[in-house]
Amino acid sequence: MAGSDAPRRWQYLDQIRRNPGPFNQDSDTSEAALEGLGQAKILVIGAGGLGCEILKDLALSGFRNIHVIDMDTIDISNLNRQFLFRQDDVGKFKAEVAAAFVERRVNGVKITPHNCRIQDFDEDFYMQFQIVVCGLDSIEARRWINAMLVNMVDMENQDSLKPLIDGGTEGFKGQTRVIFPTLTPCIECQLDLYTPRAAVPLCTLATIPRQPEHCIEWAHIIAWDQEKPFPTLDKDDPEHITWLYQKASARAQEFGITGVTYSLTQGVVKNIIPAIASTNAIIAASCCNEALKIATTAAPALGFEESYMMYSGDDSIYTSTFKYDKKPDCAVCGEVAKPLLVEPDMTLRQLLDSFALKPDLQLKKPSIRAEGKTLYMQSPPSIEEQTRVNLDKELRSDLGLDVGHEIVVTDPAFPGLTFRFILGFI
Ligand SMILES: [Zn+2]
Repeated sequence: MAGSDAPRRWQYLDQIRRNPGPFNQDSDTSEAALEGLGQAKILVIGAGGLGCEILKDLALSGFRNIHVIDMDTIDISNLNRQFLFRQDDVGKFKAEVAAAFVERRVNGVKITPHNCRIQDFDEDFYMQFQIVVCGLDSIEARRWINAMLVNMVDMENQDSLKPLIDGGTEGFKGQTRVIFPTLTPCIECQLDLYTPRAAVPLCTLATIPRQPEHCIEWAHIIAWDQEKPFPTLDKDDPEHITWLYQKASARAQEFGITGVTYSLTQGVVKNIIPAIASTNAIIAASCCNEALKIATTAAPALGFEESYMMYSGDDSIYTSTFKYDKKPDCAVCGEVAKPLLVEPDMTLRQLLDSFALKPDLQLKKPSIRAEGKTLYMQSPPSIEEQTRVNLDKELRSDLGLDVGHEIVVTDPAFPGLTFRFILGFI
């Protein structure tokens, strides 16, 4: 616990918490309730741009038992905004360095770092926390933790319900949302808010590029493959990036497109999402306010009514909150199968490829069954080989699929999930 200056240190935070108000009953302002915040165990996923801010804000909001997971190590390009890291920390684990820094700075806080992937832990690990806050740049990781928290809910045990607070930023834009698993719409219900990154069709890249990014993707996917200037592409090798940059520039010139630069080339090829320190600070702060409100009931939190806050800083400043509906056919929290409308003469391979681009699916390695029969499995290798022959078959004439058939899709990235469909033909 903090030293003798502790009461004064928390004086202003205590003022909000000790005074009963419209949302704070007497029982919420008792000494025992006040002490509860320090005892609440909170998990932060990600110790990068958002994670650094979230850890700092939680510690300064009175949370004293914090865990943080991040598998990444510190890169020199992180230093401009991930302010818990210094030059000497380059190469060390983010979670470890961030935890140690905030512990040194805020008296009495304990932060436990985990230098690993979220998938390395099971239900027992996640069950120990009261709240989970995500500061991630990966949709896949968000979907994984969302499915885990929804599956953990046991209606007989109130403690099994862990509020999930999710922050995300891209350049000057950001969002904060709060999910009460099974009770309110989950991340999978809202998946179509994200456009899949690989959504530029290959034919656009090959024939009529319209944006500088299209020229870069063309150099990256098509020109590199045709010319093979180096045996394998190393995205961290400046010589390789320079080759792609020059190819993309030439193509842009040919089509009268401007804006291809070396750093844009690097960003597109490495799939870097632009990060701005102040946007991260705004979104992290709003995530932590939600955590504080949920933990203390000091004011109404996002969640049951409005659950989604969006922030746009790129065109002046605009922010709004809205209510998102739960989807009855959500693969994680829904109960019913989705309709799947396709061309009957599509091949199985075309169908599987389309799952990567569908905004509400975004599956990279799908396996598929229909009416209980396996049509294609990604693994184990023996089954993959046996079922590979189906890939070039047409759905209706060769595979015998018909309207109303049940299709089940799985993907190794989401082990507990099955995506169920009822087939229809266009
Ligand atoms: Zn859902």
